[in-house]
Amino acid sequence: MMQEAYKCLETVFGYTEFRSPQDEVVESLLAGRDAFVLMPTGGGKSICYQLPALIRPGVGIVISPLIALMQDQVSALCELGVRAACMNSSMPPGHNAEIENMVRRGALDLVYIAPERLTLPATLDWLSSVSISLFAIDEAHCVAQWGHDFRSEYLQLSILHERFPTIPRVALTATADAKTQEEIIARLGLERASVYISGFDRPNIQYRITQKLKAKNQLLAFIQQEHPNDAGVVYCMSRNKVDSTARWLHEQGVNALPYHAGLSKEERQQNQERFLREDGIVIVATIAFGMGIDKPDVRFVAHLDLPKSIEAYYQETGRAGRDGLPSTAWMVYGLEDVIKLKQMMAGSEASEQFKQIEQRKLDAMLGLAEITSCRRQTLLNYFGEVLKEPCGNCDNCLTPSQTWDGTDAARKALSCVYRTGQRFGAVHIINVLRGKMTDKVSQFNHHQTSTFGIGEDLSDSQWRSVFRQLVARGYLSVNFDHGQLFLNDRCRRLLRGSETLELRLDVAVKAEKNRTKRE
Ligand code: ADP
Ligand code: ZN
Repeated sequence: MMQEAYKCLETVFGYTEFRSPQDEVVESLLAGRDAFVLMPTGGGKSICYQLPALIRPGVGIVISPLIALMQDQVSALCELGVRAACMNSSMPPGHNAEIENMVRRGALDLVYIAPERLTLPATLDWLSSVSISLFAIDEAHCVAQWGHDFRSEYLQLSILHERFPTIPRVALTATADAKTQEEIIARLGLERASVYISGFDRPNIQYRITQKLKAKNQLLAFIQQEHPNDAGVVYCMSRNKVDSTARWLHEQGVNALPYHAGLSKEERQQNQERFLREDGIVIVATIAFGMGIDKPDVRFVAHLDLPKSIEAYYQETGRAGRDGLPSTAWMVYGLEDVIKLKQMMAGSEASEQFKQIEQRKLDAMLGLAEITSCRRQTLLNYFGEVLKEPCGNCDNCLTPSQTWDGTDAARKALSCVYRTGQRFGAVHIINVLRGKMTDKVSQFNHHQTSTFGIGEDLSDSQWRSVFRQLVARGYLSVNFDHGQLFLNDRCRRLLRGSETLELRLDVAVKAEKNRTKRE
């Protein structure tokens, strides 16, 4: 059997060797056993089910949540000479019936189906009447509520196991922490499946996260100094920001193009095509971009806004360096990111349980952004992997970040939030601390509070760094209306003097301290 698998790998896919654990997954499925595959993006999940589907008799049924992704996969397969097709709601009438007939005639090796279509009684009846080689459930984390991309249509996929108990199933995903893995296995009835987990480490990607100052200028300097003429992806949270950033980069001589769901289909396709075909294009995009984009030589991924979870960060940065050559995952992040995300979560209408999950995921991401030790160790640890030594290829390893005793500054900051009534945002609080007579300060008589001007020793950006860390570490919370800050219970010990606080010394703060010294 495996001999046949190697032959197929070479003749159909053009590869001479399997990547671990592709061979084991293939062997399992060929032997008729279920499998659960956890492999990072770009690891090579597709071959795990495509190849056994070609060898086993019958048609392989692939369940995939994204229509665009499905069509890309099918065209790629057809180019290899594999007889593949897809069934989904965007197809013209008659198309799906045609596919059903082709399968009956044995004229197809692989059919991609959207989950909502698969679970229709008519589809299930049709499947019962044909020969099936295997079921592959792609993006299996969509079945997990704990995951970051839950889709209710996926819940019904447990029916496969009930209706077709003898046909091997394989569930595949790139993003699953330990909890999500358990949930996938339970919901899909994969308790007896062999589990294959391949390394999540992407040693060629250098992780760097710095304090956000003038984000666009920082980005431009990064591109010009380290990646001129390289292909890259810049992620922004909003469509407006994508447009303005792409335009600005273009004016500065960077070959940048926008990509987001608000552009016309033609423009989106055209920009994506150019990114794939031409050299050195920088795509500025919302997270809508990237699913299923397979470009091996993306040299950098830059984030101008903080992702909502480590999974999202890992997946987005993972689009860099698929060819294994040195690449950079670069991010700037600041007080406003933390406040915006916390605010969004506080105001979301999701269930309490869901909010709590999101909150914990965001906190893990903030933790990764704030740590002063090796980022890769923390990142891999999140996915349940242990990296024994610091990696030597992240900012914290390359230039060990310093800390400073921020106890006194933190106490001043917290007192000021308290004295002004826990009703104001960071900008105003910092003005009070620094003793600035703004209109708002005089309107609320805050120049008469005891905390007015007690923070003149630190600059604006130093205070922003302090507040960012206080919010990120949960000393302060953010109200969703206007981002007002208020104290958490955690503050007590710090305010009472029974706890001290080490803060990260941000690069900008360091530079400023040096400048003050020189002056
Ligand atoms: P995933 O679905 O895990 O993100 P893909 O299946 O799209 O990954 O594969 C990622 C890339 O790796 C593709 O370009 C694919 O052709 C390539 N690839 C997969 N398996 C092998 C292999 N055994 N040898 C060489 N290249 C491979
Ligand atoms: Zn490191």
